Formats: sequence, structure tokens, C-alpha cells
Amino acid sequence: MKTILVAGGAGYIGSHMVALLVEKGYDVVVADNLCTGHKEAVKGAELCVGDVRDRAFLDKVFTEHRIDGVINFAAFSLVGESVTNPLKYYGNNVAGSQSMLETMVQHGVDKIVFSSTAATYGEPEKQPIEETDRTEPTNPYGASKLAIEGMLKWCSQAYGIKYAALRYFNAAGSNTDVGIGEDHHPESHLIPIVLQVALGKRDHVGIFGEDYPTPDGTCVRDYIHVRDLANAHLLALQYLDKGGESGPFNLGSGDGYSVKEIIETARKVTGHPIPAVVEPRRAGDPSVLIAANRKAAEKLGWKPERGLEEIISDAWTWHKGHPEPTMWPSAWRSVR
Ligand code: UDP
Repeated sequence: MKTILVAGGAGYIGSHMVALLVEKGYDVVVADNLCTGHKEAVKGAELCVGDVRDRAFLDKVFTEHRIDGVINFAAFSLVGESVTNPLKYYGNNVAGSQSMLETMVQHGVDKIVFSSTAATYGEPEKQPIEETDRTEPTNPYGASKLAIEGMLKWCSQAYGIKYAALRYFNAAGSNTDVGIGEDHHPESHLIPIVLQVALGKRDHVGIFGEDYPTPDGTCVRDYIHVRDLANAHLLALQYLDKGGESGPFNLGSGDGYSVKEIIETARKVTGHPIPAVVEPRRAGDPSVLIAANRKAAEKLGWKPERGLEEIISDAWTWHKGHPEPTMWPSAWRSVR
């Protein structure tokens, strides 16, 4: 494997993937329509600007480059927006992956690593969540990703496509060496919001609910460093190349932290007081989401290397260096 196509490589997780592949000496081609990504975030790779739903565009990319494998991040990923506009999510996420698979089949490319999400599980039946657990998404974002997993399964059977569907838990952090990080507008994720409070851009962080059945009453999530996520994609590609069995893989640390623990760790890392105010629950938040990550460890040889303090510290380095969103002209969307 020499040349890797990264669709959505100008986005948050995609740009970290590109940085890792470039560091490891791969030739990297990025396909991105830049609707939520940033060309400045694509470092050391060729950027082809276009939409993955556009078959002619993809055909040109595959014709001009001898692609050995695909990593597909191209998607919309706002849960709330997906509920009010489900067709946008099916239209972009599902149709984009269909177009990518059609082009792969046409050009004889047989390996794809796909960014899926813990949102495919919906309300979990137990903790930690295993890949074989029930998948019943509670929003169209998760449903669109699960639909793509189904498409991958059938394409694997019919056309011999090999795939790994990587179900992310809570991605955070940045790559301080390369100078890329996370920035959404408007921001809705906990760690960036907490750091905006530390920077003085917000007065306080709202804690969404203190009456959950957890040790301190606040929601527990599994936070995973974006660089560890990127590593898992590369391992998955190599696993498929060696003939590994296709399927879904959880990407989480296996450890859960409550909202209050996140705020406390951020206070320690930043040295700022970070005022917090308890607010009502946010609709649709399960109390606990923790990944069982044994499958990724056993099959891919993946082990997360960075803990919560490093996640928050790297995110803090990024946020301090980019206090104003003008660094990035349009919105970033993390893919989960
Ligand atoms: N959260 C919070 N205040 C905020 C943003 C998030 O209390 O301003 C909580 C949210 O309810 C959830 C956790 O932090 O329990 C992580 O939320 P985030 O949006 O970062 O990720 P999600 O788990 O929804 O993918």
C-alpha cells in the first residue's frame, strides 16, 4: 500500500489522519469539498476539491492516482441538525459512501476504513459496549452511519470489498507538532467549551444534568485522543491488507469520565478556575457510554496511548494558539 485516498481529509479527524500518513511516508490524496473542512489543515498531501457524491469527480481522482486504499471521513456529524434535517444526513452521508463504493468497485480498489460512531448503538443495553451489542440509533446521524455499515457488509459479500467500520466514542485533543486541532461553530462539545471558559470566551460551562445514576450524578463518557484514533485507522488499513476479517470496531479508551471530572481535570491542566453551573439535562443524552475496546486490541493491535490529561493538555495548546475562529474561515465538524 502506497497511495491512500482520505475523503474528508480537511476536517478535524481527517486532517489528523493525513498528518499521520504523511509522517509514515505514505502518498496521500485528499478529497474534500471544503464545506466544513479547511484547506490549511491539509499538510503534506495533495488536495482535490470536490464532492464525494459527484461520481465524475471521484472517477477523475481514481483515474489520476493509483489508489491502494480509502479512508472515508466525508460526512455531516451534528446530531441535533440530523434530527431536524434527516434527508441532509442520508443524502450526504449515505449517498456519499455509495458513490465512493461504486467508484472503488469500478477501479478495482478493495479496502476501505470508514468512520462510524458510537451513536450507532443508541441507548446502550450494557456497559462497556461491545460491537455485538444491539444497534438502535436514536438519531438520523447514527442511523445514517449504521445504514452505511450495512451497505459495506453487503458490498463486502458481493464485490469483495474489505472494510473496517470504526465506531468512535468521544474524540478530543489535537496534534501540537503539526498545529492542527478542533474548532466547531457553534461549539457544542464539552472539552472545547470548557477550554473556551478557561480562555475567557465564556463566563461558565453548563453541566447538563446532575441527577444521572452515576457516582457524581453527571454523565460519563469515554474520551479518546484524536491521534490515537488516527493510529487505529492506519492499523485497520494494514489489517485489511493482510487479509483481516471485515467488520465494526469500537475505538474508545475503555475508561469513563464524568462531566465534573472533565472540568476538574481542565482546571488542573489550565490553571484557570473554570466556573460551572448545573443546568437541566440535554435531551437524548445516555447516562454512560464506555467502549469495550478488546476487539480493536486483539485484531488490530491497537492500544490508546494518551490519557485524559494529555487529551485536555493538547486541546488546550491548540485553543490557546487559536483563540479566534478567524484562523479557520468556515466551521469544522468533528466526526463521531
Ligand atoms: N456536556 C455538558 N455541557 C456542555 C456540553 C456537554 O454538560 O456544555 C455534557 C453532555 O451532556 C455529555 C458530555 O458532556 O454528557 C459530552 O458531551 P459532548 O457534546 O462533548 O459529546 P457527546 O457525548 O454528546 O457525543
